[in-house]
Amino acid sequence: MADKAVATALEVLEKQLNRPLATAIEVCARCGICAETCHYYVSEPKLEHVPAYRAEQLRKVYRSKHDFIGRFFPQWVSAQELDENMLERMAEMAFSQCTLCRRCTFNCPMGVDTPLMMRVIRGMATAAGKAPEILEMLADAAIEKGRDPSMFKGLFLEQIAEMEKELQAMVGDSSARITVERPGARVLYVALAGAHTILPPAAIFHAVQEDWTLSIYEAANYGVFLGDTARAKEIAKRIIDEAKQLKVQEVIVAECGHACASLVWDSPTWFGETFPFRMRSIVELFAEYVEQGRLKLDPSANPEPITYHDSCNLARTSGIYREPRTILKAVAQNFREMTPNGLENYCCGGGGGLVALPEYDERRMAAGRPKAEQIRRTGAKIVAAACENCRLQLGDLNNHYELNVEVTALADLIVKAMRLPKRQVETAPKATVPAVS
Ligand code: SF4
Ligand code: SF4
Repeated sequence: MADKAVATALEVLEKQLNRPLATAIEVCARCGICAETCHYYVSEPKLEHVPAYRAEQLRKVYRSKHDFIGRFFPQWVSAQELDENMLERMAEMAFSQCTLCRRCTFNCPMGVDTPLMMRVIRGMATAAGKAPEILEMLADAAIEKGRDPSMFKGLFLEQIAEMEKELQAMVGDSSARITVERPGARVLYVALAGAHTILPPAAIFHAVQEDWTLSIYEAANYGVFLGDTARAKEIAKRIIDEAKQLKVQEVIVAECGHACASLVWDSPTWFGETFPFRMRSIVELFAEYVEQGRLKLDPSANPEPITYHDSCNLARTSGIYREPRTILKAVAQNFREMTPNGLENYCCGGGGGLVALPEYDERRMAAGRPKAEQIRRTGAKIVAAACENCRLQLGDLNNHYELNVEVTALADLIVKAMRLPKRQVETAPKATVPAVS
């Protein structure tokens, strides 16, 4: 059994061993600069929190197979054959001590892609049956929904009909609509689970008279967190097929970092095709509305000091860091940057699927300390974040470090600045259990 798990993990490594991965494995100069860039190391400086140390575990295995000297004299080049204990240690490290935030890569003089190596370890562990069960369950539930949407579509439509009434009350207009899978709409909006990611965007779409329709699927993709491309691809395929069938011009992804990165950046590579529609984050679309003057906004509706947490997947992976600021400057009176921010922002500590893994709560809170300190230094009363996982983590950090802030989505701030006649917007969830599935 143990041998089989190891053999399966090694098969995954061999399968994924392309040029970018081989380069990441081979080029490290051992300078140690990456240590200070990682929020785990900043919060608790120890060897196992150094990104290069983590990557070294994969390098050892690689050398035992691919380095001529490593195959015959392993101790000369620090090569090590993979065994079950080592696989379990590597899995634990990749799933609970790396949020795949890419800050180390950004600051590495050689550009070493440590998170790529962590993703590969996650994939090896998943194939060998060593991944956290919750992540597998969430990924498989999403895949099941895609296989037979009729199982949940009726209930979903009922919920949306109720939500439409709330929308009409919220915007004071009985003609406001939430259509679902309407063929020919310009925009297909892919939300997350929960009204809080549907109602505020719906109010904004209504205000600008957007030609939009709602996807029946959620944007979250837990296959990505498992490092399991086959599962991730299947989850993304549901949305891509839906968009093709509806013949939409754009797929707009909810305020969620990994959902945006996986759909916009990973899926064209997974499927090896150029899609007949554009895909982007709703943050980009909101910023466009603001720049085009299509929204009437009153920043005095948000008078309290507000800071913004850049989701790693939006800022570093997707380059979306100017757009949230365009929005915030239009909707808030007192916007304050945290330091560092944008491309250099620290991870909140909840990425990589960590918010869904209660067994690592203590570790997650410790890793979030640099973020909590950043927030505290701003003196802000509100923290905006355009990612569901980040908001869940920030909510937990708020309680744990007694920051006394409110955590909110950008859409909620926009809706507030729209000064609607009646406002019934759910705030972002603060529970540790993710609302996304
Ligand atoms: S900063 Fe880059 S080159 Fe230096 S130790 Fe870290 S991964 Fe290696
Ligand atoms: S990707 Fe982020 S969490 Fe992972 S090792 Fe690099 S800096 Fe640390």
